[in-house]
Amino acid sequence: MRINMAKYFGTNGVRGTYDVLTPQLAMQLAQAIGIYFKRGQILVARDHRLTGESLWHAVIAGLQSVGCNVVDLGVVSAPTAEFTLHSLHGEGLIIITASHNPPEWNALKVIDGKGISISKERGEKIEKIMKNIKLANWKELGKLYTHKSSVAEHSDAILSALDKKKIQKSKLRLVLDCGNGTAATIAPSLFRSLGCEVISLNSHMDGHFPGRLSEPSEQNVAELIAAVKAANAHAGIAWDGDGDRVIFIDEQGNYVIGDKVFALCLLSQLKKKKGPVVTTVATSKVIEDIAKQHGCKMHYTKIGAPYLSEVATSQKAILAGEEVGGVIWPEISLAKDGFIAAAKIVEMICDKPLSKLVAELPKYFNEKTTIKANDKEKTNIIKKMHAHAVKNKFNFLDIDGIRINFEDSWVIVRASGTEPKIRIFAEAKTKEKAAALLSEYKGLVEKIKKK
Ligand code: MG
Repeated sequence: MRINMAKYFGTNGVRGTYDVLTPQLAMQLAQAIGIYFKRGQILVARDHRLTGESLWHAVIAGLQSVGCNVVDLGVVSAPTAEFTLHSLHGEGLIIITASHNPPEWNALKVIDGKGISISKERGEKIEKIMKNIKLANWKELGKLYTHKSSVAEHSDAILSALDKKKIQKSKLRLVLDCGNGTAATIAPSLFRSLGCEVISLNSHMDGHFPGRLSEPSEQNVAELIAAVKAANAHAGIAWDGDGDRVIFIDEQGNYVIGDKVFALCLLSQLKKKKGPVVTTVATSKVIEDIAKQHGCKMHYTKIGAPYLSEVATSQKAILAGEEVGGVIWPEISLAKDGFIAAAKIVEMICDKPLSKLVAELPKYFNEKTTIKANDKEKTNIIKKMHAHAVKNKFNFLDIDGIRINFEDSWVIVRASGTEPKIRIFAEAKTKEKAAALLSEYKGLVEKIKKK
């Protein structure tokens, strides 16, 4: 097993509260990132977090100091920034955003010129460069440019991928919850331009996040659920803080979880084309079932956006996504894009109510738990789980932890990348079976830990 030595880079960039991700560190990281991207043209975008402007200054200074020309996209959502990277042919992109994390957090998300996020493994190389920064000559410092039309360009690309007439005719009523995040820069205007009646909640950007927490979990979107019912709307839609993930509320007020959003997007895409589908090892079997029904090959990846976009590219996927509602639409970009995903589901609602669309998906129930474990225990548990799967001749994947696939159920035991925990997740056709599978593997992991 490979021991990862990256000090700052996690599964998707460098995250931290302001005392950890300081302007000093942000500048050094930006210098190393600039050198890693061959001192070429780098795009910079940020969300509206209170620490964002200060980190933005540091990132710009760092990039210019090593000779990179910088194109500032301003305050935009992560999908908008990643879409623009492709159209402006940048050498790389830094987005200053902490996605769904609490207000005091921020992060540098780094994407290469092909649109692939920098993983922990590639982050190690950037950290090595940090130890030996060579500044550009004073006459060759980078220049700063601005690009203000990225939201309009991104919206146009999404609109051109939709049946606009059908949506306009349907006169849908939607409640949008932007969560005081950067979804507010694009979502209300996008759906209004599709002729939808838009009722917006938390649609002003505010770094204090006064409306709700950024993670669009069921408990955090209670206000949206109530608004959908009160307004008798066709659907409610909520994004995370940077807009790459989306969840829905159906017309009856039921929460539609991320993997179902992904499954509906897959059905939409399959109407147009067939081909490989990519997802992480923690995603519901509902995706594999749909892919197989349509004769499409499934590819599993490690958990984390960089791995999804890497495999989506190498396998020429028609769609890639993760269990929490992040979907990559390769025609738009290699980024998870919560706006094209939302618009495609809205297009489907024109034909059938959302509750019916969800009811038609293959049904699975899942259960999850965690067990405390330090690094040594984590390594030992995963090693022993691997031996257990081999000994029993199970059908298993060892890409990220051990996922064991049974006939119509599966279980995964994996080490958390950020916390001293082992995560166990089980899925089956009934709630009882999922609970039994979880309890069996929880017992097994506890037994291994005690030995
Ligand atoms: Mg996000």
